[in-house]
Amino acid sequence: MSAVLEVGRLWARPWEGPPGGPARIVMEGGRIARIEPGGTGTGLALPGLVNAHDHARGLRPLAGGVEDGPLEGWLWRLRGLPGLDPWLNAAVAFGRMARSGVTAVADLHLPVDPLDPGEAGAVARAARDVGLTVAFVAPVVDRNLDGLDGGRGVRAALGPAAYARLERPLPPAAEQVALADAAAEALGDERFVVQYGPAGPHWVGEAGWRLLAARAAETGRRVHTHLLETAAQRDWLDREHGGRPLDWLEGLGLLGPGLTVAHGVHLRPDECRRLAGAGALLAVNASSNLRLASGVAPGAAIAAAGLAFGIGLDGLALGDDEDMLAEIRLAAALLRGWGPGAAGPGPAEIWRAAASWGWRAIDGRDGEGLREGARADVVVLEEEAMMGDRLDEDPSPALILGRMRREAVREVWAGGRPIVRGGWPLGIDLPALERELLAQARRARPDAALRALAARAAAVAEGR
Ligand SMILES: [Zn+2]
Repeated sequence: MSAVLEVGRLWARPWEGPPGGPARIVMEGGRIARIEPGGTGTGLALPGLVNAHDHARGLRPLAGGVEDGPLEGWLWRLRGLPGLDPWLNAAVAFGRMARSGVTAVADLHLPVDPLDPGEAGAVARAARDVGLTVAFVAPVVDRNLDGLDGGRGVRAALGPAAYARLERPLPPAAEQVALADAAAEALGDERFVVQYGPAGPHWVGEAGWRLLAARAAETGRRVHTHLLETAAQRDWLDREHGGRPLDWLEGLGLLGPGLTVAHGVHLRPDECRRLAGAGALLAVNASSNLRLASGVAPGAAIAAAGLAFGIGLDGLALGDDEDMLAEIRLAAALLRGWGPGAAGPGPAEIWRAAASWGWRAIDGRDGEGLREGARADVVVLEEEAMMGDRLDEDPSPALILGRMRREAVREVWAGGRPIVRGGWPLGIDLPALERELLAQARRARPDAALRALAARAAAVAEGR
């Protein structure tokens, strides 16, 4: 299939300089065949964006009564949300992402049933229906929420019977790893990349970690995990590993270019250098870290180390609207640092993260931007809506970064096909699916007693 997209300005590699002039982007077989200057198109074209860490939350936690707050309590509050149809949930989440220019996402899957082999297939269908490239990060969790203190505090406060209502027994890690392998065999391809997703150091037992590290070495599959998201995790990891948790990752054989670590809010400068030296990728989640009271990722240390990073929504955009363009701006503001001597990543690195490095979380390779031979993933922004008040004819990169938002997205192309037009996904009827998901969530919502229990557990976990 071939197609031609005419645009008024081509911002082929936003990390290299300002946008160029009008262009015709000729796409064939999912790739950019060639780019010709000229034409009569309008709009500003830039490369498709990568959401480098997410959980495809079709039902937004806030909508389900789950208040923002420290992660350790918030995770318990999530127990008050219903399980939903995996296709519907993923299709809604992917559709919302696509609306703000996301063409690829690393989705650490939140299972309804950790041993249902149908869930990966449902997410794969949703990815195809919306048109996104998805790294399906198959979850591996065998220590539930109780890793940090073994659940002792919550169990003692609630009593064993109430605790049992909140605590789902989890299958052995080996069965979850086998399910990931089966999903990779059955569904894996260039646009649905199956990876191992140990939820985090304290959510998987040592035997599970060793097993999946061995499987990752055998299969070459990437490993994507949460790391050092909160201060409590920093303390726990330091206690477990004598202050050197990266030694532990290295001992498992995981500290290398096949590793994505999400959050890293509490990384030390030496750890940033070590991750950079190993070629690992950090996924920064600025909004999520604010909403869950985790902190701000150490921009200056990341920049000084030359640590490659991607930008992730984590399903928790500050405006609760999955706006990747706003997320990029927030990450730029928070990572940069403060005052004239700010030493964090500048706008060029932020763009590289969002549209090039982020691809490492999907397939291990940098995105190339819009050039001949590159994947045909393109976002077109409407200029007037965004910056019609500018004095100069040519918009500066700073003006675009300062103004871009979901409402300015006119169209999105992925793999050489249009997936969003006029601001709405083409492959699904997003408003209709949102209504269906909402109806399902209202029907399936856990009862008030369970939600109250979840809230009490959260209070205990937060030390309130
Ligand atoms: Zn996450």
